[in-house]
Amino acid sequence: MDTKYVFITGGVVSSLGKGIIAASLGKLLQARGLNVTIQKFDPYINIDPGTLNPYEHGECFVTDDGAETDLDLGHYERFLGVPTSQANNVTTGRIYHTVITREREGAYLGKTVQIVPHITDEIKRRMLLLGQDGRYDVIITEVGGTVGDMESQPFIEAMRQLQWELPEGHCMCIHLTLIPYLSAAKEIKTKPTQHSVQMLQHAGVMPDIIVCRTEHPLGPDLRRKIALFCNVKPGHVIESQDAWSIYQVPLNMHAEHLDELVVRQLGIENFNAPDLERWTRFLENLRQPQKTVNIALVGKYVALQDAYKSILESFVHAGAACGCKVQVKSLLSDDITADNVADRLAGMDGILVAPGFGERGLEGKIHAVQYARENGIPFLGICLGMQMCVVEFARHVLGWADASSTELDANTPHPVIDLMEEQKKTTAKGGTMRLGAYACHIRKGTLAYQVYGSETIQERHRHRYEFNGKYAQDFTKAGLVASGVNPDTGLVEIVELPSHPFFIGVQFHPEYKSTPEHPHPLFKAFVQATLGI
Ligand code: GLN
Repeated sequence: MDTKYVFITGGVVSSLGKGIIAASLGKLLQARGLNVTIQKFDPYINIDPGTLNPYEHGECFVTDDGAETDLDLGHYERFLGVPTSQANNVTTGRIYHTVITREREGAYLGKTVQIVPHITDEIKRRMLLLGQDGRYDVIITEVGGTVGDMESQPFIEAMRQLQWELPEGHCMCIHLTLIPYLSAAKEIKTKPTQHSVQMLQHAGVMPDIIVCRTEHPLGPDLRRKIALFCNVKPGHVIESQDAWSIYQVPLNMHAEHLDELVVRQLGIENFNAPDLERWTRFLENLRQPQKTVNIALVGKYVALQDAYKSILESFVHAGAACGCKVQVKSLLSDDITADNVADRLAGMDGILVAPGFGERGLEGKIHAVQYARENGIPFLGICLGMQMCVVEFARHVLGWADASSTELDANTPHPVIDLMEEQKKTTAKGGTMRLGAYACHIRKGTLAYQVYGSETIQERHRHRYEFNGKYAQDFTKAGLVASGVNPDTGLVEIVELPSHPFFIGVQFHPEYKSTPEHPHPLFKAFVQATLGI
């Protein structure tokens, strides 16, 4: 079968959940037996979101091949359960960078380089890239931003061109919009949707399906009205009411026949009903937790939910697998002091110290680690969180009061966490960390081995600093054990405290690999520990 393309655009407002709709459609098509991938085109000029503050753009998601990407790729992976790659996230910056580099090489000698055709050609090349080897039946492309934004125009133009360049029936557009409810008038309004569709049509793109985000049911009359004014077939107006969980959305979209409309529109002969048995089982568990556990998430970007998206989702998956609801209490690390730590962490069944960068909030993280260690509270440290548990142990158990990470104190006499050797030569900030999947060898008989049940694992990374191997023996003798190391470099990947009920720090990011159907073993074990299992 030829590869078919579904484009998803958004109208009226941002943050409508295009990523969730894209992921839900992907899930449904996959559950019908089709091979699907999802890619995102982002209109900003950064080459990737790697250098963005999480407060700007939420979490930076990392793929196996080391791409720093938009957090929507996390949703794609969680819903589909298959890895994405660098090719799945393209920004305006990357497009321009490619075109300008080519221009400097002389590829366009004599020609004026322009948005149309040069930028749009490069966008189209990238939109079709994953479809080249026939691996996928359907490629879903989410176009970031909102229709009408100046920045997304070249993407919409590229879509317009592709509609005519691809063979008949190979490409379609789904437009996601907001149907606001005016509470004073007690009315649902369709005008913003009409306008956004008009804008899309002005650009030469005809949506085939309109998905309406709404707080209230639309009813048949409104659906007909939207179809009429927006020039789509009756029946092609889909209602997407706010759901109790993002993981419920595929089922809601199936109930609205979204997957059926898409396969029909694309001429895909697929009459299978989607097999969503595992997914439904996960949702049932999620819906009926037997217990609640409280876990503190100590970080410095806690004011924005999206900043720790994958960690929060991992707790949802692990909670469902353990029959409990994980109530996450976000705590700003900057505010935690030696005096208030007991108060702040009172009543917590577990403590997670989050990843992060820079000096701010590090001392607060160290206090949280100390509290977890001394009070036998289940603890998981991720990346910077792991590094801070090494610093804490050095200061309070090894007695090196001046121990630190050189990220916090460049001149510490005890640099127990230090910049990785290859990082010392690096000055550029974009894409230069140790990124992506690396192997880790786990020592038998450790907590890590018990958790993973395997001697070799692969996990994703995003860091510049590492455990300073020079001190390994001191730590081991005092009771903090390196239970996982990189087999090629010896870099310490996991540390743990055998004397504690559950205390583990990992240099990698387990949260990037957790999915509803395969909750991450480390999060699962952590949640079990908080339940006292
Ligand atoms: N700032 C630390 C480092 O670069 C930790 C990074 C992280 O938590 N992702 O090593």
